[in-house]
Amino acid sequence: MSYDCVIIGGGPAGMNAALVLGRARKNVIVIDEGHPRNRVTHEAHGFLTRDRIHPSELKRIAKEQISLYPSVSFTEDTATAISGTNGQFHIKTSQGQTYQSKKVLFAVGMKDFPLDIPGLTEVYGSSAFVCPYCDGWELQDQHLVLIYKGADALHMAKIISGWTKQFTICTNGPDEMTEPQREELKQHQIPVYDSPIQSIQSKGGIVQQILLDDGTPISCRGIFFRPKLTIGSDLPQAIGCQMTESGTIDVDLFGKTSVPGVFSAGDSVTHFHQAITAASLGSIAAAAINNELNEEAWTKQISL
Ligand SMILES: Cc1cc2nc3c(=O)[nH]c(=O)nc-3n(C[C@H](O)[C@H](O)[C@H](O)COP(=O)(O)OP(=O)(O)OC[C@H]3O[C@@H](n4cnc5c(N)ncnc54)[C@H](O)[C@@H]3O)c2cc1C
Repeated sequence: MSYDCVIIGGGPAGMNAALVLGRARKNVIVIDEGHPRNRVTHEAHGFLTRDRIHPSELKRIAKEQISLYPSVSFTEDTATAISGTNGQFHIKTSQGQTYQSKKVLFAVGMKDFPLDIPGLTEVYGSSAFVCPYCDGWELQDQHLVLIYKGADALHMAKIISGWTKQFTICTNGPDEMTEPQREELKQHQIPVYDSPIQSIQSKGGIVQQILLDDGTPISCRGIFFRPKLTIGSDLPQAIGCQMTESGTIDVDLFGKTSVPGVFSAGDSVTHFHQAITAASLGSIAAAAINNELNEEAWTKQISL
């Protein structure tokens, strides 16, 4: 099976790229194993015309609309190996398929490391979140706990203060803050606890209180925390894509990686994790892929 572009990952980035490439009449397949990072949530917020939509519904509509473009196909599978060079990549999958492709787009997102605070899994996506731009509105004026350390804790305190004035910082172990940072939080009367968190207690996904190792209970209605993340797939590194120091795939403004013919878009290339940003990066990368394909075909015509 031979394609102009294989897209690995069918979240907002991969789907928007498929839409743009389908409209550009390119043969594309989207290989998606279907584990997007936001699968724990019930609603996606802040996506123009789709605010408060269930993430699976966003994907359903995307698929329905892209299906109007006959050169795009989808498969539920995991890409497990990649080899080759620009113009001739080979992608193998866990179901034993091999796809040949001129270009590859990694839209593989990011993955959470297992959550290491007892009780956090039960509330993640219901009342514990990672991004106030996604879920701050729903928790406005509630008593929140921010689980952050060091400079991050102060930074997050400033951001969250636009949604609620009632919040507490739990550093879950040594706070790693400088004296001036601690003093600034004190001036704003923000309590800081550095005892490790023993457990998060909840009912039906809604956090009730956080219990610290030193016995302190902190009652709250929501949590924001910094997740530990890793790239959604090892394949970008396997084919030689350069990574940034902060663990994203290194790309230029058009999603080109350090490997000719290989592109990346979405959460895997940025720290601003929002569905509309991912979709937009997918759209840009698709245009860049299409331009390369057309230019290469144009040049080949003359040399024949
Ligand atoms: C709890 C939570 C709540 C959020 N809420 C919001 C919100 O309200 N609004 C908002 O805009 N954003 C929200 N986000 C962020 C949003 O989910 C991401 O920014 C967005 O999904 C990123 O899109 P993506 O296409 O880059 O990656 P993803 O959506 O993560 O999709 C990547 C896809 O690639 C697949 N994949 C990876 N490797 C392979 C492989 N080897 N083979 C096949 N498939 C593979 C994955 O299984 C997945 O389906 C939230 C995130 C979280 C964690």
